[in-house]
Amino acid sequence: MQGYGIVLIGLLALLIGLTAGKAWERYKLVEGRWVDRRRVRQSPHFILGLNHLVAGQVDLAIDELERAAKLDPGALELRLVLGNLHREKGQVGRAIQEHQALLQRPRLNKIEHANVLLCLGLDYRRGGFVDRAVAAFQDVLKLDPDNEAALVNLEKLQEDQHQWQEAYVTRRRLARIAGPPDQPNSQLILAFLENELGLQALKEGRLDDAIARFEAAIDLDSRVVPAYLHLGDAQHQRGDLAAATATWERAIAVAPDRAYLSLARLEETYDTLGQPDRFAERCRALTAASPREWRARVALARHLTHGGEPSLALELLFDALEHNPHAIAIHQAIWATLSLLDLPKQLVARYIDITRQSVFYLDPHVCLRCRYRSTELIWQCPHCHEWNTFVEERITPATDTEAEIPAALVQ
Ligand SMILES: [Zn+2]
Repeated sequence: MQGYGIVLIGLLALLIGLTAGKAWERYKLVEGRWVDRRRVRQSPHFILGLNHLVAGQVDLAIDELERAAKLDPGALELRLVLGNLHREKGQVGRAIQEHQALLQRPRLNKIEHANVLLCLGLDYRRGGFVDRAVAAFQDVLKLDPDNEAALVNLEKLQEDQHQWQEAYVTRRRLARIAGPPDQPNSQLILAFLENELGLQALKEGRLDDAIARFEAAIDLDSRVVPAYLHLGDAQHQRGDLAAATATWERAIAVAPDRAYLSLARLEETYDTLGQPDRFAERCRALTAASPREWRARVALARHLTHGGEPSLALELLFDALEHNPHAIAIHQAIWATLSLLDLPKQLVARYIDITRQSVFYLDPHVCLRCRYRSTELIWQCPHCHEWNTFVEERITPATDTEAEIPAALVQ
């Protein structure tokens, strides 16, 4: 019987302990009075604030969340969010003030301290205070070495300042934290950073170092096209034309849609090597593989014109125009070749005929709300169902200041 009593007392003590713990979790002593922490999250102001946030009404969200914050002046997260909202509104000074005030609070734990510093770093970055932003993110990392947000922001700042080596080290840390699923993305970024380091070496005349960097970039991720282009350039500078040619040919094999970047370089080296036919062969292979590949056609047309065969070049250009009527480079090449041939009436008429048939000239209309495109004017958008949202798309010249439609729509 006595044993049973002891168990009962024990259970009772446990229950009291649990209740006290719950109460402690719920209530907090602030300036001599007990504050119910739950009240903040249950207050209508908090919910309304969130609703406004979802609706993108930042000003109204700030108003409501300020009211909610008054219920518990100690709530750190809410003040952090309010500071962030001011930053998003462009009030960087206000955001900095808000977040700096939080740093003055006594008894911030390590993670809270890191969170406040991270927000402050974002404020500085937004305000363009680069040095202070870098210092803030580095302070975050002292408190929380695996803080991904701090590392990502630090990396972007280092990239902005062309501190490629520092950015590389930061990305390596991120890759290690993220682990295998995100590694491919990091590999690609590291490859681009290697390429930048190679370019830096190339500029400073460190040819061997540059070549090693570009090769390392390709090893990290074979899709990094600029690394091939620059590796070829470095090999060319060294006088190794065969190696340069092979590298640029590899670039075409890896990314045929970017072939035109290698073509201009290859045209010259094939000529120097005394094999101009290889250029034509390569262009023909590219156009055969992809009918929309207009750049290879334009490159081959230029090559043929230089070789004294403008009529053949014009046929290629007309073919390219049918597939890509929007490419101004094709129109320019056609007119240059037509002029060279003294504007034969029949060929000019063919040009007009091809352009008349192309979709490009059917005056595309674009929905201002969702960018849905239509070749004719419609009053209700079939995609977003809004009324009267269509404008006629005009591709404005670069110097035209009186654009009739927002810049975002001009492609
Ligand atoms: Zn729409």
